[in-house]
Amino acid sequence: MKKPFVSYDKLEEIIARYKTPFHLYDEKGIRENARRMIGAFGWNKGFKEYFAVKATPNPVILKTLKEEGCGVDCSSMTELMMANAVGFRGREIMFSSNDTPAEEFVYARELGAIINLDDFTHIDFLKEHAGLPDTICMRYNPGGDFVISSQIMDTPGEAKYGFTKQQLLDGFIKLRDLGVKEFGLHAFLASNTLTNEYYPSLAGLLFETAVWLKEETGVSVSFINLSGGVGIPYKPEDKPNDINIIAGAVRDVYEKILTANGLGNVEIYTELGRFMLGPYGCLVATATHKKDIHKQYIGLDACAANLMRPAMYKAYHHITVSGKENHPHDHIYDITGSLCENNDKFAIDRKLPKIEMGDRIIIHDAGAHGYAMGYNYNGKLRSAELLLRMNGDVELIRRAETSSDYFATLDVTDFHF
Ligand SMILES: *Cc1c(COP(=O)(O)O)cnc(C)c1O
Repeated sequence: MKKPFVSYDKLEEIIARYKTPFHLYDEKGIRENARRMIGAFGWNKGFKEYFAVKATPNPVILKTLKEEGCGVDCSSMTELMMANAVGFRGREIMFSSNDTPAEEFVYARELGAIINLDDFTHIDFLKEHAGLPDTICMRYNPGGDFVISSQIMDTPGEAKYGFTKQQLLDGFIKLRDLGVKEFGLHAFLASNTLTNEYYPSLAGLLFETAVWLKEETGVSVSFINLSGGVGIPYKPEDKPNDINIIAGAVRDVYEKILTANGLGNVEIYTELGRFMLGPYGCLVATATHKKDIHKQYIGLDACAANLMRPAMYKAYHHITVSGKENHPHDHIYDITGSLCENNDKFAIDRKLPKIEMGDRIIIHDAGAHGYAMGYNYNGKLRSAELLLRMNGDVELIRRAETSSDYFATLDVTDFHF
C-alpha cells in the first residue's frame, strides 16, 4: 500500500493554518532521494544531476536540490531567471530548449549555461544572435522506435526533438571548425519509464554514437547527458526503479564502450525531474460535495487546474483518505474537480473507504509535473505550495493565487474587478 508522507495529525495541524487545496512537499524524501541518486553515480568522476526545473519550478525546492549538489536543467527564460535567482552559476545550468527565442540564447550565454542545441539550424541561429560558446551539447534523435527487450518504449521517429545522426556528424564538424572546444551529447527517448533498463539502453546508444563521432571527426565528447525519463511507481502494484541497479548497469556499458575506446574520462549528466520530485509531493484537497446519480461522485475543492495529469493523460494518481488508511475500501467513487469539463476526474471507479464531507483527500505523486502544469481555465486559481521541513515545521513556499492575480493582466482595460 502507498503511505502518505504526512500523518493525519500533522496534516490537520497544517490545514489549521493553510486552507486546502495545496501542494505539499517532503524535504526529507527529496534530500534522501537526491543523495541516493548522486551516490549511485558516484563511480563517475564529474557526474551531475541537472534537475529539470519544469517539473517543479519553485526556488525553495531548487535551493534544496542545490544544497544536495544538483544543477538545473532549464528550457525557458523564466526558468533561467529562477535558476539565476537561486544562485546557480555557469556550468551548474543546462539549457535544453527547443524552438528557442533568440533572447533566451542570449541570456543563457550571459549566465554561462551549457547550451544543448535541439537542431542543426540552431548552430547558425545561436552564432548570429548570441555568439558561440566554447562548450556545446547536441541533442540526438535516432528516429524509428526505441525498443528495449523487444518492447517499444517510445517513437523518436515521431518526436520533434533533436538532430539526426548525419546532422550530428555535420554539426560536430561545423562547430569544431567554428572554434567550439568542448562537446556533449544528449538524448531523451522515453518518458516515465518503469524499467531499470532504460538508462543503460539509452547510454549504450549514446556511447556508441560518441565512439562513432570520434572515429569520424577526431572529436571526443567530454560529457553525455542521459536527460530525464526515469519513472516512478504511480500505482501501488508498480515495481519501483532501483537507481543503484540503473547506475551500475550504466557503468557496465560505460566501461565496455567508452573506456574500451579511449573515452574513459567522459562525464555523465542526468536531467531527471519526475524521479527527483514526483513521490515527494502530494496535492491535498477536501471533499466538499457528494453526488449520487448514475455513478457516485465525490467533489473536491481541487480540480484539474491544480493537477492536470489525470485529465490530460488519464494518468493514475493514488488517493488516500487521510486518517482512513485502514478502513475497508468498500466504496467505488469517481473523484472529481469543479471544472466544466467531464475529464476533470482525479480518479474513476476507485475503491476507497466511505468518504464524508470534510475528509481530507491526499492525491499522491504530484511532486513533479503537478503544480507546474497548473492553469487558470474556468477562472480557477493556482493553489499554494508548502514544504514540510525535516524538523516537522511547515513553510509556505508559494502563496495561493488571489483573484487580483487572475485579473492583473487586464490592467490594460478600463474595468475594475
Ligand atoms: C521534461 C524534461 C526532462 C525531465 O523529464 P522527467 O520525465 O521529469 O524526468 C529532462 N530533460 C528535458 C529536455 C525535458 O524536456
